[in-house]
Amino acid sequence: MPVNAHECRACRRMAGHVVLDLGDQPACDYFPRHGDPGPDPVYPLQMWLCSHCGLAQLLDDPTVPEEPKGAEPTALVAQAADAVARVAAAGLLPTGARVAEYGSPHGGSWLGLLADWSLRPTDGTGEADVILDCFGMMHAADQAGALAERTARLAPGGVLLLQYHSLDTIIRLGQWNALRHGHYAYYSTIALRAMLGAVGFSPRSAWHFDLYGGTVLLAAVRDADDSATPDETISAAFAAEERTGVCDPGVLRGLQQDVQTRAAALHDWLAESAAAGRTVLGYGAASRAVALLRTAGVDGDLLPAVADASPAKRGLRMPGTTIPVISPADLTARRPDEVALFVSDLMAEVRASYPEVEAHGGRWVDADALGSA
Ligand SMILES: [Zn+2]
Repeated sequence: MPVNAHECRACRRMAGHVVLDLGDQPACDYFPRHGDPGPDPVYPLQMWLCSHCGLAQLLDDPTVPEEPKGAEPTALVAQAADAVARVAAAGLLPTGARVAEYGSPHGGSWLGLLADWSLRPTDGTGEADVILDCFGMMHAADQAGALAERTARLAPGGVLLLQYHSLDTIIRLGQWNALRHGHYAYYSTIALRAMLGAVGFSPRSAWHFDLYGGTVLLAAVRDADDSATPDETISAAFAAEERTGVCDPGVLRGLQQDVQTRAAALHDWLAESAAAGRTVLGYGAASRAVALLRTAGVDGDLLPAVADASPAKRGLRMPGTTIPVISPADLTARRPDEVALFVSDLMAEVRASYPEVEAHGGRWVDADALGSA
């Protein structure tokens, strides 16, 4: 087998293209102790697009430890409540239904919300009427296996709910740093139609949320069930994704250009601030900040610290850099002139939680928006 041969994680075909190459990157789930001198091990980080089923996926598969669970952001909690209400309004959460949840290793469960709608969690691997996967399946190296496991547990007439950060969003917003080790799949509704079709399922309804710039919750049902007719949200999703070109390797390669633009913009801004004597600190020790910092060549001299609300990350440093993770209290005590926010979804939350920053004349800057048109 040639070294660069890759078998699709979903359809097992081997035809496809590398569409995004971020070079060698540390395993961003691995936050070393601040005193650990490194060097941190690095692994190739590349996105591959299957020519057959259209699933965008992680090419290499280094085994990496999981990121410490962070505090669940308010934005995620609010979206979960919104999503559950919309699915319930569509009549897909019958009272008393058994629910099985496949959660994300990063935390966040909908079971409490679903209990409010009188759904009952099932134990272990038993049959369920509602199978919920919220940012969970993307963490499975074997995508076909993961989907088969979920669908096999679904009772006749049941519904599979899959929530994911959509590839359409990643492309349209140039979110190349969504690509990371441990996240094996970057879904479009079109690719999921093919994956679901292989196990006798079809998409039925799709709901869109602003989370991460564009998150989709897809309801899928067995083709044999009466409820199998897709509604207009599905045809609209396919049409939008076809306009974007989610299965077009040429379109996805546009993300490579975004890499250079964003990284250069971050570096230039930080260098300018340093030259002007302004103190800039970061907020959000998220794994998706790692590739941005490294690609931009930003280290502790330009960004002396990144604050994070998660106590689990204190005393650690950003992978592949010398940048320590500090507490929000340390951040406000240093009275930064500017704070680079690496998780844009948290903008409203951090401004409300840490009013001291602006009270002392500082300002929050969306690091993801730097360099965008
Ligand atoms: Zn495939």
